[in-house]
Amino acid sequence: MVDELDELYREVILDHYRSPRNVRPLADPDVVEEGNNPLCGDEVVVQLKLKDGRIDDVSVRGRGCSISRASGSIMSEAVKGKTPDDALALSQRFRELMRGSGDDASGLGDAGALQGVRKFPIRVKCALLAWTALEQGLEARVVKAQAGRG
Ligand code: ZN
Repeated sequence: MVDELDELYREVILDHYRSPRNVRPLADPDVVEEGNNPLCGDEVVVQLKLKDGRIDDVSVRGRGCSISRASGSIMSEAVKGKTPDDALALSQRFRELMRGSGDDASGLGDAGALQGVRKFPIRVKCALLAWTALEQGLEARVVKAQAGRG
C-alpha cells in the first residue's frame, strides 16, 4: 500500500485531506444525503442549500480514508455556485473519468487530480462516494419538485 500511496496522494489530494473545505454543517439545508462505502468503511453526509436556482452553500462531512475525504472536499468546492444541472453534469464527467471511459479532465479543476486513483479500482468507490451522494440528493429533489408541480 505504501508504494501505491506515492502515486495516489498527489499534493492536491493531500491538501484537501489535511484542510477539508466546507465541513461545517448547514443550519437549514434543502438537500441532505448520506452515503457509505462498506468496502472501505467510508461515510459521508452531503448538505446543500439552494438559492435562486443555484447551489448557494455546501457542506460535506465525512469519515474514512483520505481519498474519500479529499474527494468530498474537492466536490464541495467544485459544485458551489453551480446550478443543480451543471453540478450533475460535472459529477457525470467526473464519474466517466474515474471509470476510465473519459480522459478529459479539463474543467474538472482539482477533481482532475483524482484521475490517478482509477489505477486502483478498489479506491474508485472511495473517490465517487461524495459525488454519488450529491447526485442522489439532487435527483431526489428534482423528482420531488416535478411531483409537486403536477
Ligand atoms: Zn475509502
